[in-house]
Amino acid sequence: MRLKKIALFCFGCSLVTFLQEVDAQTSILERQREMFSRNVGSAEQQRAQFPPHRIVGNLYYVGSESLASFLIATPEGHILINTNWEDSVEILRASVEDLGFNFEDIEIILGSHAHGDHMQGDALVKELTGASVMAMADDIPGLLRIQPGGKPHPVDRVLEDGDEVMLGGSTLVARLTPGHTPGCTTWTMAVEEGDEAYNVVIVGSMGSNPGFQFVNNTSNPTIVDQYKKGFSVLSSLSVDIPLASHPAMYNMADKYERLGQSPNPYIDPEGYRAEIEAVETLFLDVLASQERDAAAESQ
Ligand SMILES: [Zn+2]
Repeated sequence: MRLKKIALFCFGCSLVTFLQEVDAQTSILERQREMFSRNVGSAEQQRAQFPPHRIVGNLYYVGSESLASFLIATPEGHILINTNWEDSVEILRASVEDLGFNFEDIEIILGSHAHGDHMQGDALVKELTGASVMAMADDIPGLLRIQPGGKPHPVDRVLEDGDEVMLGGSTLVARLTPGHTPGCTTWTMAVEEGDEAYNVVIVGSMGSNPGFQFVNNTSNPTIVDQYKKGFSVLSSLSVDIPLASHPAMYNMADKYERLGQSPNPYIDPEGYRAEIEAVETLFLDVLASQERDAAAESQ
């Protein structure tokens, strides 16, 4: 009789542990889903024009409500970062023109990483402007698979970590921050305004999307090391103005409301640190949970 009681107690105990584990797994998946949908928004938001505006110096926002695009305007033509979906290139063009620039003056097309929501429009924008497409070497295989309507993805210059892209007195540095994609690129540049110079960092993305496989990923066996490298590069940067491939990653809607105030609301080094920490914590939690699952399966 006594034995039976102990057995019942132990069964109850392991059921509680099991339920707690299920709960923890669910909440990690929920956190992944929340972060993902905070970033990408709805299909409508991805294609809805956000008021184009000057961020600092010669750097402008020309993206949609949830997909960021940036224009660096120079006397020798412009650099565009992120063409986004091909079916929203018209919105991009409208934003560039609303700011008083010629879309055809875009000379260089860059991107955050080889996913369609950021770089599917490359071929069309090149067709419309004659601009050169430059992309990080490790993202070229992914980019070549993006072929809207069967159009081959153009690549005019292949970049490596630390390479500079220069035009009309502006210099952008390509930093390899891999993980989200193997060649995910964070752009850094010093932007001058008045007597000040600001370190601008446009984060490529370190998101751990739902479905990303970190443990036993046979098609990308080094993915965990890539993420760790990406986070260490991002932590090492000196940042005044953080920007990113999705506006929610730098709280654009709130900052835009305060545009024109002094100091410039886009100056936010603390916000940068907090965002990187939140995204890194999520990555480490997802990794730990996948490691626990893999260990349980192998028993
Ligand atoms: Zn992406």
